[in-house]
Amino acid sequence: MEFRSASHLVGKTVSEKRSMIENDLPAGRFSVACIGPAGENLVRFANVMFQDRAAGRGGAGAVLGAKNMLGIAVSGSKRVDEADSPQLKEVLRNAFQTIKNDPVSIGFKENGTIGDIPSSNDGGDWPTKNWQSNSWGKGAVLFDRYNEHNFIKPYGCYRGCTISCGRKVHVGEGPFKTPEHGGAEYESISCFTAFVLNEDMDAAVHSTYLCNEFGIDTISTASAIAFAIESAENGILPEQLEGGLHLRWGEAASLPVLVKMIARREGVGDLLADGVRQAAKQIGHGAEAFAIHVKGLEGPAHDPRSGKALAISYGTGNRGMCHIHPVEAMAWDSGKMTWGLTDYGLTDPDTVDRWAEEGKGKEVKLLQDGLSLPDILGTCKFFMYAGITIDHWAAMLSALTGIDFDGKRLLEISERVYNLQRLFNLREGLSKADDMVPQRVCSQPAFGKYQNSPECAIHDYQKMLREYYIARGWDPETGIPTKDTLRRLGIS
Ligand code: SF4
Repeated sequence: MEFRSASHLVGKTVSEKRSMIENDLPAGRFSVACIGPAGENLVRFANVMFQDRAAGRGGAGAVLGAKNMLGIAVSGSKRVDEADSPQLKEVLRNAFQTIKNDPVSIGFKENGTIGDIPSSNDGGDWPTKNWQSNSWGKGAVLFDRYNEHNFIKPYGCYRGCTISCGRKVHVGEGPFKTPEHGGAEYESISCFTAFVLNEDMDAAVHSTYLCNEFGIDTISTASAIAFAIESAENGILPEQLEGGLHLRWGEAASLPVLVKMIARREGVGDLLADGVRQAAKQIGHGAEAFAIHVKGLEGPAHDPRSGKALAISYGTGNRGMCHIHPVEAMAWDSGKMTWGLTDYGLTDPDTVDRWAEEGKGKEVKLLQDGLSLPDILGTCKFFMYAGITIDHWAAMLSALTGIDFDGKRLLEISERVYNLQRLFNLREGLSKADDMVPQRVCSQPAFGKYQNSPECAIHDYQKMLREYYIARGWDPETGIPTKDTLRRLGIS
């Protein structure tokens, strides 16, 4: 291991840093992770970037920035030891076949995650205008526009990925001209269109490209912009901060400008760079109502009003309102997916009404435990969406390590991890109050397809939360893990 001076990298974008680091190393042998200017400026939602893929959401880029660590290059020359190679090959062959033939896998390869936009819009799973609605009606039109003008080809994070959900995209001409890059993800594009009522797909693609180049989380960035627009609209954003910007819904031209201002902490960007919770505290005058977050993490582009289990998943997410950690409640409740978990006690989603609240809290425990596993194993979660179950993981892990794993054991490991994270949060001062979701996210949509659907609102969040605490073996009133639960999980 070797430390090198990075002073020549200061202020460079992600792709600049990456190629400068690569140029200093033997060709083709290193993988590079780095932060962008946003991480250097300690933007609270700065990413660690792996080319166009991001370790995003929780602000890891700011942590590296705070340590003056601008990049890491890694190389290896050995293979991973395998306890039972023939068995591992056999298990993997089966897994690849499963993934290859799975309709979700085929859909992801064909349309990428952005292909979910029309159905999310239609199903009320598409937060719109800073969560004032859950459906905008423009999903299909925007997706078609992207397909005709921005899409180039699919790609995978690594050569062996059988799904290849990534998209190479660009903007060929005009004010938002953008070179080919890996982008146009469901979350990123939803946030830079529906969140801010922007109908210009080129502006959305360009803005998300800039987020990658500056090393900043697309979801939190667009959320912060939506928050600023609504604050300005309501006359509570200090005028000097607006500084000649057009902070208006649908104002495409201001989006890339604001992305850069946030990454550089300039003007209103400095306020927004601390996230919507902090920004609302600074502004006051009721700005909290426009700050959509849990535990300080801005909400992603899935809406619990269209499948109530998601509300609990968001509220109790250990890192807040996150689409990755984990958001499977929606895919179970509304999308009717199971990931093989019905064998371990998950209720068959085909028997479940997505608008109902009763019983949803208790299901979230198993959904969180089951779908945190890819994070724990260090694999891509989409393999589980493409047919891989915990039994597949157990078989792979057993063949790889020679240690006997089964699904039950993996679920217990995951439960232990979830509880440890909870304990970490409690130690740092979080409490039941931090498990609440914003009022707006529970309210009947103000406009759109579901405007007149009272079943869309969340009526008794507390009841679902209590159900969840009990299912977890936590105190039903405080949400603190009981001693019995910790003992059962082997946490001393
Ligand atoms: S590893 Fe996962 S995210 Fe990456 S291309 Fe494959 S399926 Fe998509």
